[in-house]
Amino acid sequence: MSKVFISGKLVDKEQATISVFDHGFLYGDGVFEGIRVYGSKVFLLEEHIDRLYEGAKAIRLEIPMAKADLIAATRQTVAANELVDGYVRLVISRGAGYLGLDPRKTSNPQVIIIADTITLYPPETYQNGLKLITASTIRNHPQAVSARVKSLNYLNNIMAKIEGADAGCVEALMLNHKGEVAECTGDNIFIVSRGVLKTPSVDAGILEGITRNAVIRLAREAKVPVAETTLLRHDIYVADECFLTGTAAEVVPVTSLDGRLIGDGKPGPITRDLLERFRKLTRG
Ligand code: PMP
Repeated sequence: MSKVFISGKLVDKEQATISVFDHGFLYGDGVFEGIRVYGSKVFLLEEHIDRLYEGAKAIRLEIPMAKADLIAATRQTVAANELVDGYVRLVISRGAGYLGLDPRKTSNPQVIIIADTITLYPPETYQNGLKLITASTIRNHPQAVSARVKSLNYLNNIMAKIEGADAGCVEALMLNHKGEVAECTGDNIFIVSRGVLKTPSVDAGILEGITRNAVIRLAREAKVPVAETTLLRHDIYVADECFLTGTAAEVVPVTSLDGRLIGDGKPGPITRDLLERFRKLTRG
């Protein structure tokens, strides 16, 4: 029986319920994190916790728990579920209130921790790469809600995801309001161009991925020059290599965009090296 942390304790998953008046449910008012567990250890937990608290602060939601206690509760939930390799979902919702937007009329923000298994892309995807299309849905304007907030409202990404699925793609590229490359629906994007690893900078209006940052560190260790820079779709079309990063996806090669082959249409050497380094980092 899997155990969920809610209201300060671990309960059986059937008992883990929230109010239909919770603004997380009514309005997507809240923040969340997705975190991997490798070999019973929670991977880069502190970085995820920091992003969660920053996002909460940005939406003026006070998480009713100290960081250290949330870290301990996360580890406790993983242990209680005897999770060796899996996925943790942390959810902070505004709490129950009335049928009105005002968060000041809510109480009891919920802190929920779910530890579960994860469905991975099949091994062929890592070997052969995946294809992308560009979605017509642009990423939310950064001056509406910052994409740096991993909020409970993912409709922006879901609309693009549906466009991808309609085109037979498991991921879709999203541009920002300026027409620049932002990120995919649940992953950050990188290209390799003349030996330089390039990825949009955070001010392109993207989520600052934890995996993105880990891969940038790995590339620097491998002495691959890294540039966080403006990218246009043109840069991807003419890139030598392309890959995505994310907690669930890890490092996954991309071999085409909008039906155009990237490089020679096969995962490139720098992508394969970084994928290997990432596996070493996570699996020892
Ligand atoms: N961008 C978006 C929109 C995402 O939802 C995610 C994954 N949750 C990422 C990028 C990748 O971030 P991370 O490496 O922290 O999982």
